[in-house]
Amino acid sequence: MLPPSADTPALDTGLVWKHSFAALGEDFFVPLQPTPLPAPYWVGRSSEVAEQLGIGASALQSDDWLQALSGNRSLAGSKSLASVYSGHQFGQWAGQLGDGRAILLGEANGLELQLKGAGLTPFSRMGDGRAVLRSSIREFLCSEAMHALHVPTTRALCVTGSDAPVRRETLETSAVVTRVAPSFIRFGHFEHFSHHGQPEQLKTLADYVIDRFYPDCRQDTRFNGNPYAALLLNVTQRTAEMVALWQSVGFCHGVMNTDNMSILGLTIDYGPFQFLDAYDPGHVCNHSDNQGRYAFYKQPNVAYWNLFCLGQALLPLIEEQGLAITALETFKAIYPEALAHRMAAKLGFARPDAQTNALIETLLPLMAADKVDMCIFWRRLSHWAKACDLKDPQVRDLFLNREAIGAWLLQYSEQSGQETPGPDANLMLKTNPKFVLRNHLGEMAIQSAKSKDYSVLNNLMMVLQTPFDEHPEFDSLADFPPDWASRIEISCSS
Ligand code: AMP
Ligand code: MG
Repeated sequence: MLPPSADTPALDTGLVWKHSFAALGEDFFVPLQPTPLPAPYWVGRSSEVAEQLGIGASALQSDDWLQALSGNRSLAGSKSLASVYSGHQFGQWAGQLGDGRAILLGEANGLELQLKGAGLTPFSRMGDGRAVLRSSIREFLCSEAMHALHVPTTRALCVTGSDAPVRRETLETSAVVTRVAPSFIRFGHFEHFSHHGQPEQLKTLADYVIDRFYPDCRQDTRFNGNPYAALLLNVTQRTAEMVALWQSVGFCHGVMNTDNMSILGLTIDYGPFQFLDAYDPGHVCNHSDNQGRYAFYKQPNVAYWNLFCLGQALLPLIEEQGLAITALETFKAIYPEALAHRMAAKLGFARPDAQTNALIETLLPLMAADKVDMCIFWRRLSHWAKACDLKDPQVRDLFLNREAIGAWLLQYSEQSGQETPGPDANLMLKTNPKFVLRNHLGEMAIQSAKSKDYSVLNNLMMVLQTPFDEHPEFDSLADFPPDWASRIEISCSS
């Protein structure tokens, strides 16, 4: 199909657009149009996100929308732009970065729409403004998988592809992901104006974020009425809770630079991420991360470090360093509490206590020592907990050290019959998913999509959107990873 010609009118969708970010003024962005993507086709679609946006699933069947979401036709009422931000990358100040390939269209029904891979912007630096098919499919699948796991995240409406070549290590084809979130503002947006000596813009941005997303900060009395310290506290809390969820589901982000940290505590910028197969706290999923800075077990500390960068950036507004430190230090209590809560739920208890904490403390080293598959262990334990039958080998057989896990299972089974009721298997089956987006599953979807077969992608999306359901016909998607899974190399190249 030919792309629409330049005089094709903008697509009237009936959406009521707002442009609250654009209203901040041109210190914050550059207005620009996406670059057309030759001969686009649909790759993946989320009708759930379409409904949420108020465009209806049928939009994702229409050629008009296909063209619009590939950057070939404008949407009536949208005002497209690329925003400027900076950030710390791998622990170093990286200076100005910005939306190098993501273009914001505006907000509708409280959600912003952004086309990632939609062409060059003034912030593209050495890049080509494009995204490749494989990384776009990974972002699409993972956004929706994380949402279904109740982890705060940006969402993805769809991926469109094109045979237009893009060069990475080899020649690949391009794609555009339409991302959706209440806001795409990052820690790096604040760092930008702070480091570049623009206190007025810094205040404008902070006031915008407070008024739109954290209005309670204006009434918060804990910081002598300082709303900016209250903002830092709120972001600290959301970030701590998000990372606790990551650790509980075995999600490794891979590039926790401050420009990839959302001010709303959403998981954002899916690049070289990975769900752990074997439980290995030292796992580094990003092959470009030579120092292991973003190893799985380091994520909570990195989040805390990143929050300090945000605190530093907000200091001209907070004014008193003591207040910033007080806000940041709450991480030390919030994170372990949030994690204990999640881990207790994985064990089948609504609330953590000394016993659930002790059980987790004994269990994790056993899992790490035997490199036990994380998803399969927790799912099997959820089924096992229905009867807690010590003769049932399903869980024990996942370990080499049978004696140690046997002792642990005994201790766990004895939790019932005391003052608290025993583990709630139903809670566990709603907490411990059967399906996660393992690297090899993503890879299988990508390989078929390369030959324009989207059935693997669609089936995978379906189970990932309902990961707590059994879907017995898709048992193979819940199996151990094949040998070749450990040879998949995922890097920053996307
Ligand atoms: P990331 O590591 O994906 O978070 O990207 C870091 C910075 O590089 C951001 O400013 C991105 O917009 C930019 N970037 C990454 N890939 C490209 C690309 N292919 N073209 C232009 N900019 C890019
Ligand atoms: Mg990024």
